[in-house]
Amino acid sequence: MDKVLIEIRDMHKIYNPGENEVRALDGVDLTIYENEFVAIIGGSGAGKTTLMNAISGFDSKLSAGNISVNGADLHKNFDVLKGIIGYVPQQDIIYENLTLRRMLEYTAKMKMDSSVGSAERAERIEKVLEMVELIEHKDTYIRKLSGGQKKRASIAVELLADPKLFFLDEPTSGLDPGTEQNLMKTLKKLSKTQGKTIIMVTHTTQSLNLCDKIIIMGTGGRLCYMGTPEETLNFFETDSLVNVYNMVNSDALMWEKKFKDNNDNNIQSPHKEHEKIKVGNKVSLWNQFKVLTMRYAELMLHDIPRLALLLAQPVIIAVLLGIVAAEEVFDIYEDTKSILFALVCSGIWIGLFNSIQEICKERVILKREYMANLRLPIYILSKYVVQLVLGLVQTLLMLGLFAVLVGIPKEGIIFSSGFVECALTLLLTVMASAAMGLIISAFAKNGDRAMTFAPFVLIVQLLFSGILFKLEGAVDVISRVTVSRWAIEGLGSTADLNMLMSKTGIPRQAENLFTHSAQHLWQVWGILMIFVVVFGILASVLLKSVAKDQR
Ligand code: ADP
Repeated sequence: MDKVLIEIRDMHKIYNPGENEVRALDGVDLTIYENEFVAIIGGSGAGKTTLMNAISGFDSKLSAGNISVNGADLHKNFDVLKGIIGYVPQQDIIYENLTLRRMLEYTAKMKMDSSVGSAERAERIEKVLEMVELIEHKDTYIRKLSGGQKKRASIAVELLADPKLFFLDEPTSGLDPGTEQNLMKTLKKLSKTQGKTIIMVTHTTQSLNLCDKIIIMGTGGRLCYMGTPEETLNFFETDSLVNVYNMVNSDALMWEKKFKDNNDNNIQSPHKEHEKIKVGNKVSLWNQFKVLTMRYAELMLHDIPRLALLLAQPVIIAVLLGIVAAEEVFDIYEDTKSILFALVCSGIWIGLFNSIQEICKERVILKREYMANLRLPIYILSKYVVQLVLGLVQTLLMLGLFAVLVGIPKEGIIFSSGFVECALTLLLTVMASAAMGLIISAFAKNGDRAMTFAPFVLIVQLLFSGILFKLEGAVDVISRVTVSRWAIEGLGSTADLNMLMSKTGIPRQAENLFTHSAQHLWQVWGILMIFVVVFGILASVLLKSVAKDQR
């Protein structure tokens, strides 16, 4: 007899217990053996996803019952057991702008022990590509693969860590019948030749004859049948699995009872001997940081249209500033203040735009990697490094052209060059704004939604910068947490706004905002740096919610 791998006893799951409770799993008993290829089918809302989330360990809050894997309680030992679990969600967990080989190289470095050498890693990648039959596409960009090939690529990503237990959420959805059948054959082969137990949720019925076992869920989270495809057809006395859907939808309670009665004499006694699970890939934090940073940089460089847009923006903005700037900039107080304010707003926009979609667009991949071993602060740090390089290039482009077209204060306070000082203030402005963008990206569920927050952030920065309205009372308090206030203070100090003549010729009182002193400028830079750090911590904390994303 095959070895028992997973045992589920009397599992219940109730969402929102109380008056509006939903019974998603109702007393499910299941046994899954090693190397089985199992499909979970049933109508919409029958509890298939809930069941798979529970067995894969990602939902640890059962209402009752227990699940054991190789004899160990799954939820109590999840940190160890997750090392043998692979999960392919419905959405692809691959980057369009990498070649298949590069994608797998990065994932291998993230998932495989740091002591594994590059030759061994390359060998594993080749092997995995062979398993999913994509070897001839290894140097193809993922965006150029077909839907079925992308699904295989996602499977390859998960196979790298050599999981024993493999879950797939509707892997064949959206595929044409031929592609679907090929994928099902590949999965069957994986279970039989690679020693994997494969469990998938599916809606299609045409290739189910390839499965070893079918689990049929009925309305109300009831287990209506579990058996081989042939046994299933016999049990329901029909010649098509499509009919089974309608039968369990119309009377799940009756089928559940019939199955239980039928099964009572037939309960398998659990196998007591279990293989010891070998897990524990250790990837150092430094390695993780290196891999994430390099992967992000490569993705950025390969997305040429986006990169062109990111680099064109500062150039176009500098030209526009050149058009609107008055002749007497850096001589006349009002004109200088206006143009510096415009420069600050541009910096904030550039930083925000650089980062606001960067996390949400890869949330599915992030979730999968976070559930494996990714550390969120390291992930945020990797984003910072690439954003810093990008921000530096943009700042130099914008300020360089600005200096040519409009001018720039000749001398600084701390540095002899006014350009260097303004560039530093602007770079910190861009970085603090990029950090704000990452916070938005950490809680927004998708890129479009993240973008809708951008105008709001910009309006707050405009209103509380101290330029349009006087910094008094609440305005002053709020302005202290806006990037714009400190950015304009920095640039205004370097430009020595207090010493410039007013258009009206009437003498003005010196403003504390623009005190031309090294101490003041250091304070401004320090505050902007604190923003960068605090926003980064906030983004990592907010990102913990990624674990609760629905799949
Ligand atoms: P299936 O995957 O078979 O379509 P699900 O497992 O997603 O079914 O859902 C089973 C039932 O539980 C459905 O009635 C669904 O509305 C409900 N449900 C699923 N997730 C939640 C949730 N997070 N909160 C409340 N109800 C939920």
